[in-house]
Amino acid sequence: MEFKELPPVKEQIMKCVRCGKCRELCPVFGEIGIESAAPRGHVFMVQMLRDGKVEPSPEVYEKLGQCLMCETCSANCPSGIDVHELNAAARAYLNDKNPNRGKDFLFGNFWTKPEMMKQSIKVASLAQRLGLQKLARNIGLTRLLPGDLKDAEKILDNIPPHSARSQLSAYTPAQGESRYRVGYFLGCGTDFLNPEIAQAAVNVLSRNGCEVFIPEGLKCCGLPHIANGKMDVARQLTIHNLKLFEKLNVDYIVTDCGSCSATLSKKNLKFVLEGTSYQEDGAAFAARVMDLTVFLVDVLDIQVDVKIDRKWRVT
Ligand code: SF4
Ligand code: SF4
Repeated sequence: MEFKELPPVKEQIMKCVRCGKCRELCPVFGEIGIESAAPRGHVFMVQMLRDGKVEPSPEVYEKLGQCLMCETCSANCPSGIDVHELNAAARAYLNDKNPNRGKDFLFGNFWTKPEMMKQSIKVASLAQRLGLQKLARNIGLTRLLPGDLKDAEKILDNIPPHSARSQLSAYTPAQGESRYRVGYFLGCGTDFLNPEIAQAAVNVLSRNGCEVFIPEGLKCCGLPHIANGKMDVARQLTIHNLKLFEKLNVDYIVTDCGSCSATLSKKNLKFVLEGTSYQEDGAAFAARVMDLTVFLVDVLDIQVDVKIDRKWRVT
């Protein structure tokens, strides 16, 4: 579909009344404080892009790329504008106009192949233990990484040698009587950087009467691809994952990753699958997706005894 014809671009831009409510809430605007970094500024920028008043240049991409896709502005806009969707649509358009081989490989190839990622993470972990990451940082090699990776790399200080998927079974039985069949949506961050969290999530589900299924061949939820202008790849990943879970016939699909649960929400899947024949499947899938903590409390009815530390005061 042409950029101008995409539903958020076609239907939402004119709803912006420039009230600025979104500015107050945007964490990026809170830090940077300039209008082009505010959600309202992004809406205006996308409008200018649509109307041909700014060129689809890398500079425009960089400005729109300051958005974290946290959805806070969208959730609070009195006109009901999905600012993050507008931004994502514009990034995809800008990405098409400014192809980048490194980014194409990273998001169009590497980050669609969990096995390749698993092996690479192993190598990265070894390189880190040998001090090579430090060396690469010192000589500026890491600055050559494409997309958001040059920033993301800075937080990779302790890469575990083994991913979660190399340690977890595709099926974990319930301890005691089975109450639910649960699909565990293993996010990339948990899988490759925090495998102990995945293990703990599976344990807690199993101990509370859930049979846990991790579909073989599960791929990324697609958020990195959406955020990097690769909407077509995000769509393919989503369809792939929908089909995998469909075969498992689970009651719920649970994830411990906040980014995955937001990406797999009904609203977001509607946006990603727009114009495909998978919209109904996407809605049925999203209806079963639940954040792990919500699932534990609302479905498994686990009562949490929250102890308030009196030293802290919330204002
Ligand atoms: S809150 Fe909504 S209507 Fe108001 S400026 Fe932001 S995007 Fe526009
Ligand atoms: S989605 Fe982007 S523009 Fe909106 S509040 Fe979050 S960071 Fe700001």
